[in-house]
Amino acid sequence: MAHIKQTIGNVEIFVIHDAEIALPVTRSFPDVPVEAWAPYQERFPEAFSGADSMRVHFECYLVRSQGQTILVDTGLGSSNTNPGTVINVGGGTEGELLSHLQSAGFQASDIDTVFLTHLHPDHVGWNVTRSDAGESVTFPKARYVGNQADWDAFDTPKDSEVFGYDWWADTMTPLKRLGVLELVTGETQLTSEITAIPTPGHTPGSMSLAITSAGEKAFIMGDVFHGPAQVTESDWVFHYDVDPDLAVQTRNRMLDRIEAENAAMAVCHHSGFGRVIRVEGRRYWQAM
Ligand SMILES: [Zn+2]
Ligand SMILES: [Zn+2]
Repeated sequence: MAHIKQTIGNVEIFVIHDAEIALPVTRSFPDVPVEAWAPYQERFPEAFSGADSMRVHFECYLVRSQGQTILVDTGLGSSNTNPGTVINVGGGTEGELLSHLQSAGFQASDIDTVFLTHLHPDHVGWNVTRSDAGESVTFPKARYVGNQADWDAFDTPKDSEVFGYDWWADTMTPLKRLGVLELVTGETQLTSEITAIPTPGHTPGSMSLAITSAGEKAFIMGDVFHGPAQVTESDWVFHYDVDPDLAVQTRNRMLDRIEAENAAMAVCHHSGFGRVIRVEGRRYWQAM
């Protein structure tokens, strides 16, 4: 499988595909009438799999900067690492992160830092591996960086019920038990080229990576956007946004910044990098 690779100054970024599903647009965006999607289905056919169905990717990003190898999110996971995942989120889909990591030329042991944009189940699926010997971290040399506000929000039995299974016990509490979890607040530098920045709304502790190298800029943004249409329709609310108003504010703030800085952008549920362009005054996603 060909791997998308993007270079931002001296930083190398590989898109590592974990999984893909088809989801009805009316389930992802219950307040948006189905006919409002038509112009985006025409403009971005690759993002849809039918008249009312969007292709939802589960992508991870491997970032190399200044000798550090950073994995952004760990995807949907598999029934081995996370027994509930394939049934409840992925509709029977098994994540393929590890084999795609390998075919891109990397091993799990190459990862220095696992950066978790937020702590929803489809972004932490491969955190932990289970075998007869017990549970262990899937990326044995990595520290795992997550956000304190997401930890505080989801570390309750109630929130496991939202997704129908206890992803938290499967994928997050083991990190704490094994002593590899680092919870951060505010801006946090990962290398001098890469900074984690707060982009809350989708979840309270959602973070993005701001990458600046040799005069070039990019943002990897987790679930600030769910597909290219939201670059134009930034007030469309995604079903799982925890604080929809704040999510809209964050989306608009990031669009202003990406446009002003002429930055590249990537998200987790649509594949590849894009830029923000203007057509007749409106913003649109343009794939790079
Ligand atoms: Zn999410
Ligand atoms: Zn997600």
